[in-house]
Amino acid sequence: MGLFKGKKETMTIGVLTSGGDAPGMNAAVRAVVRTAVHAGAKVKGIRRGYSGLLEEDFVEMTTRSVADIIQRGGTILYTARCPEMMRPEGPEKAAAICRKNGIDALVVIGGDGSYRGALEISKHDINVIAIPGTIDLDVASSDYTIGFDTALNTAMDAIDRVRDTSASHERCSIIEVMGRKAGHIAMWCGIANGAEEILIPERYDYEEQAIIDRIAMRKKLGKKLHIIINAEGVGDSNGMAKRIEAATGLETRATIIGYIQRGGSPTCRDRVFASAMGAHAVDILLGGGSNRAVCFLNGEFTDMDLAEAIAMKKDIDTYLWDISRKLCR
Ligand code: ADP
Repeated sequence: MGLFKGKKETMTIGVLTSGGDAPGMNAAVRAVVRTAVHAGAKVKGIRRGYSGLLEEDFVEMTTRSVADIIQRGGTILYTARCPEMMRPEGPEKAAAICRKNGIDALVVIGGDGSYRGALEISKHDINVIAIPGTIDLDVASSDYTIGFDTALNTAMDAIDRVRDTSASHERCSIIEVMGRKAGHIAMWCGIANGAEEILIPERYDYEEQAIIDRIAMRKKLGKKLHIIINAEGVGDSNGMAKRIEAATGLETRATIIGYIQRGGSPTCRDRVFASAMGAHAVDILLGGGSNRAVCFLNGEFTDMDLAEAIAMKKDIDTYLWDISRKLCR
């Protein structure tokens, strides 16, 4: 195609999924492969993220290798965490392996950590495009990350179920959702599930007594059901349940939803966004772009410099947070 630094006629793109898996990663891989192949480029799938790259675990990909995967959760390329990448020689070795195997550019689908790995590889003269794939929504450069919508809907459904049994038993329930250090899933579910309390690392002041006082007050007002959504980053849901029960006399249970939030068939939104982002990543490469982060910003699919993307910080949506405060009373 002659567009890629004039080096050779056919571009070879390596694609990998890295870090925590997210529903929709398969749809993104499919879009990368199909867009690239359609444009005459070659694609090598790299298994198990950066670990597979360092071990040269490659698989040639055609439009057929990505058939029947758009609806599947997880990632057909597998994913892994790779400590070797954190050492100075890791990214250099990764870049050398790409060159040795004729990989001109890498498409990395993953979260914040995967972006950092991608940036380190790019410093050794390998072109890298990053796609935001994480259920946690904690990639600052994009308003949307692949997997968030599916995880939210899974968590929301699970919380509804806990709510039913809590209502029957007139209990207080603490439900812990995923999100690592970010409270996006907790906040969205807190609104969607009508929780009385939403505890997220970005806002929680660890004033547990204030929560206990509010529960006691609501109990006095005749409330039979108390739902607390606890973000993973706040933690200690079991300890908190014991302390609330001791202080209020109200039977209190903690439920940690856990890994079911990471699996399952992606929602329509995740499939469509992953498809658009995967195609956009290849379009950047075909257009001669280098070291970019694919983003969804202000309602548009776009991209920005990878280093700039990594330097950005993300807060929770303050408008939604304010609303959540008003609605939980
Ligand atoms: P996620 O991409 O979901 O945030 P991790 O934070 O576990 O997941 O990162 C995935 C992988 O990215 C790590 O296992 C490591 O191989 C690589 N990585 C993370 N941070 C860095 C870094 N600062 N330098 C190089 N590689 C990194």
